[in-house]
Amino acid sequence: MTAYKLLLLPGDGIGPEVMAQVKTVIGALAETGLATFETETDLVGGSSIDAHGVPLTDAALARADAADAVLLGAVGGPKWSGVAYDIRPEAGLLRLRKDLGLFANLRPAICYPALADASALKRELVEGLDIMIVRELTGGVYFGEPKEITTLPDGTKRAVDTQVYTTGEIERIAHVAFDLARKRSGRVASAEKHNVMKSGVLWKEVVTQVHAEHYSDLALEHVLADNCAMQLVRRPKQYDVLVTDNLFGDVLSDVAAMLTGSLGMLPSASLGAVDDKGSRKALYEPVHGSAPDIAGQDLANPLAMIGSLAMALRYSFGLGEAADLLDGAITDALAAGARTKDIAGEGVNPLGTAGMGEAVVAALRSRVR
Ligand code: NAD
Repeated sequence: MTAYKLLLLPGDGIGPEVMAQVKTVIGALAETGLATFETETDLVGGSSIDAHGVPLTDAALARADAADAVLLGAVGGPKWSGVAYDIRPEAGLLRLRKDLGLFANLRPAICYPALADASALKRELVEGLDIMIVRELTGGVYFGEPKEITTLPDGTKRAVDTQVYTTGEIERIAHVAFDLARKRSGRVASAEKHNVMKSGVLWKEVVTQVHAEHYSDLALEHVLADNCAMQLVRRPKQYDVLVTDNLFGDVLSDVAAMLTGSLGMLPSASLGAVDDKGSRKALYEPVHGSAPDIAGQDLANPLAMIGSLAMALRYSFGLGEAADLLDGAITDALAAGARTKDIAGEGVNPLGTAGMGEAVVAALRSRVR
């Protein structure tokens, strides 16, 4: 069996605790013959600042570049709140995304039947929800120039952020969304604001063209981003793949996150361009942060981190069957009543981080048997 090269960057706070559960799952994947990984571990964020004075060393970046995929826990925490802006823990993560060219952020919002009552919406609106939000990650208003605050002659100030998108940037993210939809239900919704933004006009035009030229067998719907936010809380199951820009994606993916119950449940993937060998750089990480309030107490929910490994199996290694088994093991563990504190209802005795990891591994073993 091919041994894939996986770089583990546990990071700070609960990062190392949830990553420890991924290591247990990796052991179980090898034992059951589903997948074998060669893993290396390195530092990122505050732990790297403590050891090396920077949130990501050139050596760690080189290892990330050489790996088939990177799994990251979380970075940051109050311990590093006083460090210089350029070397803050998050700068390590941003450097990884930028230097590996990770332009496509995939955030699934899945509502497990066993957790439907933990959602902010009614059970019938969210039960069985399975949306994939595809957010453009390296362009748009967060990066466009000019980006500045200037002082006007009257002493007041003027702030400028610039929303910029090129045809190429929109084309490549549209391809990611349509390729995903082809493996799912065949439906894509594209969200922008063509009614008030020129970048929205171009976004809609390019997505329409990519659809017509390459994916006319799939269904494409255009939706204004503000309406999309409304629809997500009104009737979320109408969407399957939702593609949008960096800013709208930031907001819409957080709205979708709340539909699923807890931050501890949400994995994500950030993908780069496909190279001539057919592979692509990829970083998988939970959506949550380092949760300093619960770090070191065996309270963290490891399912977002384990779900991130399942995404790596699916999107970096083409191991769809192993990914289905691992996702299925998470569903089974939840259905059997396994709960960490963040998703435990009243009167439920919760498991710790390690206990949840073990529950998933046990469920995986029984699925494989
Ligand atoms: P957070 O996601 O760390 O925590 C928000 C709340 O959710 C906390 O109450 C926390 O206990 C809870 N929570 C988060 N993950 C959980 C899990 N797996 N299981 C159970 N409960 C969980 O966000 P925050 O408190 O705003 O930020 C804390 C630190 O993390 C900050 O330094 C922030 O900059 C950093 N951060 C990092 C990332 C990242 O590494 N990608 C993302 C967001 C925030």
